[in-house]
Amino acid sequence: MTVIEQNLQQIRGQIAAAATQCGRDPQEVTLLAVSKTKPASQVEEAIQAGQIAFGENYVQEGVDKIQLLQSRFPHLQWHFIGPLQSNKSKLVAEHFAWCHTVDRLRIATRLNDQRPADLPPLNVLIQVNISEEASKSGIMVAEIPALAAAIATLPHLRLRGLMAIPAPAEDYDSQFAVCAKMADAFRALQRDYPTADTLSLGMSDDMPAAIAAGSTMVRIGTAIFGARDYGQSL
Ligand SMILES: *Cc1c(COP(=O)(O)O)cnc(C)c1O
Repeated sequence: MTVIEQNLQQIRGQIAAAATQCGRDPQEVTLLAVSKTKPASQVEEAIQAGQIAFGENYVQEGVDKIQLLQSRFPHLQWHFIGPLQSNKSKLVAEHFAWCHTVDRLRIATRLNDQRPADLPPLNVLIQVNISEEASKSGIMVAEIPALAAAIATLPHLRLRGLMAIPAPAEDYDSQFAVCAKMADAFRALQRDYPTADTLSLGMSDDMPAAIAAGSTMVRIGTAIFGARDYGQSL
């Protein structure tokens, strides 16, 4: 068994334990394997271990991997989870199945216009700056209804829910408090948009708290693929 396979097994076990502990069905939580900076060979190891959904932060790096792996593994689901600049939106619209980081109408409109007609609608999540950090992307909770209403009119996008990257917190209780705020915002969105079924929340360090709060998709990189070496790969 490879290290990546072992890590995946361990994380699946942790997801199941966290879900069961708070009375949720582990099936409600999708594991997104964040493969940014990692070579396609490691993605392949994860595929061999049964992983289907992968998250990438850098547009070109993600497109390269998709193009390399797509023909052999057409069942994979590729998620763009990095900050998105307008000039890169076309590549995301053309190659990815999901974009987690929609935080302004201009980007949503571009993704909609650039989504190829022969592909299903691009699944999008609105990114929320839930810890209200000055330098972070994402919108405030109060701004969600307006952006959601605008996205809902765009035929080549499907509004699937919300995403956040909470500010790092050491203890479980503070992690849970922020995640619970996101879960409230998600439930409010779901009341108006039946297509909203995804709360993308939780990384290697705060996964149990995110699941307890109601996350339906955890984004895990380091705990699957090991530490990232930005110096070498970027
Ligand atoms: C890198 C990244 C992750 C994975 O973080 P880990 O701490 O390595 O699990 C999750 N979400 C986003 C948006 C990221 O950029």
